[in-house]
Amino acid sequence: MSTPVKIALLGNPNTGKTSVFNALTGLSQKVGNYPGITVEKKEGICKLNHNTKGLLIDLPGTYSLNASSIDESVVIELLLNKKSKDFPDVAVVVTDVENLKRNLLLFTQVKDLEIPTLLVINMADQMKRKGISLDLPLLEQTLDTKIVLISTRENRGLEELKKTILDYRQLSTSPTIAINSIDEKYFKDLEKTFPNQSLYKLWLVITQDVNFAKIDRKRVSDATDFKTQPASYLKRMQQKETIKRYQFINNVLKQGLTINREAAIDLRSRLDRVLIHKVWGYAIFFIVLLTIFQAIFHWSSIPQDIIDSGFVSLSERLKNNLPEGVFTNLLTEGIISGLGGIVIFIPQIAFLFLFISILEESGYMSRVVFLMDRGLRRFGLNGKSVIPLISGTACAIPAVMATRNIENWKERLITILVTPFTTCSARLPVYSILIALVIPEGSFFGLNYKGLMLMGLYLLGFGMALLAAWVLSKTLSITSKSYFVVEMPNYKLPLLKNVGITVWEKTRTFVTEAGKIILAISILLWILASYGPGKDFNNAEQIVRQNHPELNANALEIKTNAYKLENSYIGILGKSIEPIIAPLGYDWKIGIALISSFAAREVFVGTLATIYSVESDNEDTIKNKMGSELRADGTPLFNLASGISLMLFYAFAMQCMSTLAIVKKETNSWKWPMVQLFGMSILAYIVALSTYQILA
Ligand code: GDP
Ligand code: MG
Repeated sequence: MSTPVKIALLGNPNTGKTSVFNALTGLSQKVGNYPGITVEKKEGICKLNHNTKGLLIDLPGTYSLNASSIDESVVIELLLNKKSKDFPDVAVVVTDVENLKRNLLLFTQVKDLEIPTLLVINMADQMKRKGISLDLPLLEQTLDTKIVLISTRENRGLEELKKTILDYRQLSTSPTIAINSIDEKYFKDLEKTFPNQSLYKLWLVITQDVNFAKIDRKRVSDATDFKTQPASYLKRMQQKETIKRYQFINNVLKQGLTINREAAIDLRSRLDRVLIHKVWGYAIFFIVLLTIFQAIFHWSSIPQDIIDSGFVSLSERLKNNLPEGVFTNLLTEGIISGLGGIVIFIPQIAFLFLFISILEESGYMSRVVFLMDRGLRRFGLNGKSVIPLISGTACAIPAVMATRNIENWKERLITILVTPFTTCSARLPVYSILIALVIPEGSFFGLNYKGLMLMGLYLLGFGMALLAAWVLSKTLSITSKSYFVVEMPNYKLPLLKNVGITVWEKTRTFVTEAGKIILAISILLWILASYGPGKDFNNAEQIVRQNHPELNANALEIKTNAYKLENSYIGILGKSIEPIIAPLGYDWKIGIALISSFAAREVFVGTLATIYSVESDNEDTIKNKMGSELRADGTPLFNLASGISLMLFYAFAMQCMSTLAIVKKETNSWKWPMVQLFGMSILAYIVALSTYQILA
């Protein structure tokens, strides 16, 4: 085998890069991050012929080589840095036959870097309907390159593409425009200082305000007075460059491209009239969302129940068949339930991404963004934040993963940070038992108090998310330029292959990346809850039997478990935080439940049931037991003040290690999950404290 050909896939967003990438590599692809930043890096292997492989990189979509986002600077950095191990042997610029003029700007820039550059014109299947015809030989001649016309949708042209890539050495590397014509003297000086460099490359190094350059940048500015040029001069020259390029492109296309307007059947404008309508647009979007979330809840509950009972029975079976001991306990109670806690999320993640990628692929998502952008932008969010925010009502994990579609890093980060405020389904059991316990019967204008309280908590979650987003947008000092291009791709039937790969990729990433952290933390929490220092824990059974000689075997076991939990490390922790949580209206038992809830909120009820030695899982039994708990002064522990304080604590606190794990994965650092953990939990504490102090 010869060494693989390194191929960079470039192009404007939505031209079909990822589709080409998927078509060429299938499932032999790897998704990672560029070091230090959160831009996704997709690599894959493709067989070009029987003994040559291609190593493909699917680069982020970019409109030009004038960087205005992290995504774009990734592209420039790669193309400017010959020493990078990913530096391509050949650049493949993917364009959309319907947007050739705009797409070719990037092509001319890449080619001017004197890298062998090949032009792919995608979506050939649309040509007939849109009345587009191309004179390919003429275009190849004027653009001085090879052109491959393909349709990934119809699987056309891909073999020819592979062949042309194989012959990349025959591609011309001469520039399309003479960059020195924008200022002869300036470039003459530049050329004198760096006789062996491509002029356009030097120009890029000078004009980009992002400092990529492990390469020549410093030498460029040290050796010359180029850096002393006022910024306005550089801006003006860049504009001149863009104009020059478009003049060139217009000339090329005038001869090479004809569009017969009559032939274009305009499905698009007819659909758009409804889908981005001021009223109907929102109504339809609302119905689409409602359908999606109904489906996610309904469809995933079936596999989730199966997964849940599967893991429970697996753990029981192992427990019965393995010798008793520490290792068996660790396996059956720590590891297996930890794994169960990961796998249980798979159905929701898979379904959410199934729908999201269908919406994206079909072109509808861009309309949603258009509709929602204005409203959300006021809060520092992006039109695309609507999906994470609403998915958050099912679960924050897939919601955080869904922020990948937001190109602007600051808006993406803010969306990630505030999504956990929305009321996820794990909060429901906590809310419902507390509401049943402390909210009185009765109604207000025919609406019952309990229902109103629950609705209030949902609204509070959204409201807090928006408020927090607004605060963050004012305080986070991240510059990430956002020029809002309303990219409205044509409506298309989704490509099943793309949808399938997205779903697979998201699920796999979650299991392998976040899964590791979730498993580690659940084992840690299990150890803290199953072990304790000293006699009280180790002799729990004896002590309980002595104190309650009347109990039968079953009741004895339940009492022993309660006693053990009380004296375990978590129990001791719960007791020791009592002084801190007493002003919120909680006792140490609630403290234990709170600490366990940092694994996942829904364990609140189960933990209380264990501490109160409730004999059955029946919610009413637990509720009655909670209702009869008294404080030292004889008043009920759970009253309106402490109940509401507790609900607000659950509404705001960051109690979900799985979310923290996925945020770590998505932001590529521990900084942001820690900001969430402490920021949200401190907020929760303050709100719960004031609530209790006012109401009590
Ligand atoms: P990227 O943003 O450049 O990675 O583009 P994608 O690969 O995500 O594709 C953008 C949209 O174009 C998706 O809706 C694809 O289904 C669609 N698409 C990709 N290739 C073709 C094609 O050959 N013909 C048509 N009609 N649509 C395509
Ligand atoms: Mg893509």
